[in-house]
This record gives sequence, C-alpha cells and structure tokens, in this order.
Amino acid sequence: MATKSRPTGHKKVVGQGSATVKKTQKVNPAQYGGEDTWDMDEAEDLAFQWEMATKKPIRLGGPAYHSPVEGFTPGLYVRKGITFTSRGCNNNCPWCGVRAMEGKLRELPITEGNIIQDNNFLQCSRAHKDKVFDMLRKQRGICFRGGLEPDLIDDHFIDNITSLRIAELWLACDTDAALTKFKEACAKLKAAGFDRNKIKCYSLIGHDMEKEEQRNREIYRAGAMPFSQLERDFSRTKTEYSKEWKDFERIWQRPAITKAHMDAVEAGECEQIGSLI
Ligand code: SF4
Repeated sequence: MATKSRPTGHKKVVGQGSATVKKTQKVNPAQYGGEDTWDMDEAEDLAFQWEMATKKPIRLGGPAYHSPVEGFTPGLYVRKGITFTSRGCNNNCPWCGVRAMEGKLRELPITEGNIIQDNNFLQCSRAHKDKVFDMLRKQRGICFRGGLEPDLIDDHFIDNITSLRIAELWLACDTDAALTKFKEACAKLKAAGFDRNKIKCYSLIGHDMEKEEQRNREIYRAGAMPFSQLERDFSRTKTEYSKEWKDFERIWQRPAITKAHMDAVEAGECEQIGSLI
C-alpha cells in the first residue's frame, strides 16, 4: 500500500528522519532530519560543515542510511504530537521499504500524541490498540496518518474511533487489485459517519496515467480523498518526472483541485486525462 516515494511506510515521512546528521557527543546535539534518500548529499554537506566548525564528530543516520529503528523518542526529528506506537510491518509490499528497514511489527511503549504515525497500526494486538485508544481519549484532532490497512478495519476499530475526536483517517490504495477491499473499508467508515473530509487515501502513481486516473476516480467515488504520490527510487537523485506527470500528481494531491476535477468528470466535461488543469 505504500510506495518507494514513501520509503518508510504508507506515509512518506515516517522514520525519525531519513537523512540525519547527529552528533555523537552529548554537547548541544545537532540533528538534521531530511525526509528522503535524495536529502543525503545535503545531510553530508551539513555534517562536514558542522564538523569543521565545531571540531566535534558527526554521526549520520536514519532510514536513508539503513540505520536500525529501535523505538521512538517523542520530539526527536518529528514535531510535537506525532507518535509511533509500533514499528515495522508484517507485510512486505514490493514498493515499500518498511520491512527491510524496520523488520516485522513490534509494539512500543505508548507515548502521548494525536498523530498516530505507525506504519501499520491495525496489525497491533487488540490489547495494544485498546491502550492506544485510551491514550487518544484525551486528544483532539486525531489523525491516523501512517496508513490503515483496509482489510483490517474491523468493528473493534470502528467502535473505538467513533467515540474519538477524529480529524483524519488515512488508508492506502496503490494498485487496482486493492480497490475492492478499499471500497469495503470505505463503506464501513461511511456507515460509521465519516466522510471524504476525514477519509484520505494514499495512492501510488507514475506508471500508467490512464489507469491511475481511473483508480483515483474510484477512490474518490468510494468516499475518500485521494492523495497521489509519484513513485520514486531509493537513490540519492530524486527521480524526475515530466511536467505532465507533475500536473497529474497536483490534481490528485490538492483537495480543492481534486474536487473541481471530479465535479467536471461527473458532469461529463472532462473526458481526457489531465485536460482540466
Ligand atoms: S502494508 Fe506494510 S509493507 Fe505494505 S506498504 Fe504498508 S507499511 Fe509497507
């Protein structure tokens, strides 16, 4: 459900910094948390400059360097409110780096936060999820942003989230084959009272624009707001795409543009892919 453009899970920014500069000494720790492998050159340049200026050793780390992911320290590389209650994932989707970088799912001690960034929260045990729901009862603007596996959205999850102050529920639908289960999950969430303002969906693009246009339309019609990301490799050079692809991504990344596009599609005014914008 995630992509190479989301190297550490359903969501692009998942690990505690992908390209990271970190001092090994305890004095004034300097840390740089880039998001992607293409930040590595900048990270190394910063490390060099810092080392020259301070004469102190610098350690580079993070998912981009395949550093081990042991747990989660609130506030380290991620903003306040973001929390990970688990690491890893038991799946091994070919376009995703989580399994290679973080291994199988491990539950972590629960730290406070309103943005649950776990790669695959729904794979956690029921006991663990119950503890997370208890923590969330005190939170507002709750986002499950790491990605909710559609076929694991069950009554237990729905019963709990309906009593929470939910802002966003992020699912993923990266292939046509995933559409059926995605639609079933959306139907359950809609029946529980959630709408497109709260149901969001990561969708991988960058291969077949016509098919991806159709998949995104299906995601939208199912009641979710698609959020497309162009697939990118784990390399130091950011994979470049044509203007046509970037425009296509933009249509499916900005809710106001997506809505205008879909309004035109449903009115029969937009037959050609990318013809609106
Ligand atoms: S289900 Fe797991 S392996 Fe698949 S994309 Fe999501 S985090 Fe990655």
